[in-house]
Amino acid sequence: MLTCRICDAQGDFPTYRPREMMFGLREEFDYFQCSACGCLQIAEIPENLSKYYPANYYSFAGGRPEGRRLSPIKDAIKTKRLDQVLGKRSLLGSLALTLFGEPELGDHWMLDVPLRSDYRMLDVGCGSGRRPVSWRRSGFTNVTGSDAFIKEEIEYENGVQILRKDLRDIEDRYDFITMVHSFEHMPDQLPTLQAAYRVLNPDRYLVVALPLSSCEAWQVYGIDWVSLDAPRHIYLHSEASMKRLAERAGFRVREVIYDSTAYQFWGSEQYRQDIPLMDNERSYRQNREGSMFSNEQIAAFDERAAELNREGRGDRARFYLYKP
Ligand SMILES: [Zn+2]
Repeated sequence: MLTCRICDAQGDFPTYRPREMMFGLREEFDYFQCSACGCLQIAEIPENLSKYYPANYYSFAGGRPEGRRLSPIKDAIKTKRLDQVLGKRSLLGSLALTLFGEPELGDHWMLDVPLRSDYRMLDVGCGSGRRPVSWRRSGFTNVTGSDAFIKEEIEYENGVQILRKDLRDIEDRYDFITMVHSFEHMPDQLPTLQAAYRVLNPDRYLVVALPLSSCEAWQVYGIDWVSLDAPRHIYLHSEASMKRLAERAGFRVREVIYDSTAYQFWGSEQYRQDIPLMDNERSYRQNREGSMFSNEQIAAFDERAAELNREGRGDRARFYLYKP
């Protein structure tokens, strides 16, 4: 008898044994999928999780982003330009936008919610802080990141602070929080969302981007589904289980937007052929020419991903969670 750690349902749920394939350790892990809520989850959370986040794990690799201090004038102009894009218009903002072009927002989807340049921004599970630093560079003035797996706290010259903390240990309040492909790595799901709810100011948004098991790729590829990513992905929510959990934490689910890519296909096809994601010769991620895919195949994967996203069956989505 198994117990779902998301909805508490019990039963003889279907079980699976995926392997660690990002680095090609090929160690096997037990997972099961709750028949009540659809959440696929690891049966037992490994004690030494950090073992599976080596120095070349992608959110640490490439070193620290460029976080130098800008001159106060340059900084002010960037903020005016950002204000312009966010709807707080000014002559200087309009001029800056014309002269210097759009701010490099990186995450275009941030514009889906109301934001201001002086909002207190928090990115949870940010690694060495690439996203928070890019926010700061685009003109946001109050930016923090957190990651429980980094070696030490980081303070960038431009004022961005990266805390080495679990969300539950954060005391400050924020106006916008993101968890971009980090939530599925966290052992304590409801407590983490409840903590996000606590540190978020009312009338504000948390955006969670994560892989979903209520997708075609899980049905087609099973344990070779690349986004299963055993054992780092502890929970592969279904759309229904994620919605239910968010509501239990107090949030209103305002929107779910699917954003899966060709990765779900080429990554899973590679795992089927026993090719790790980080294989330097054969993986499309590392060496496009040496991979088993032609440009035409990748283009077809892209098209299929777009189709699945429209049908709500892609393997990734963003949840826009609103705190009333
Ligand atoms: Zn369940």
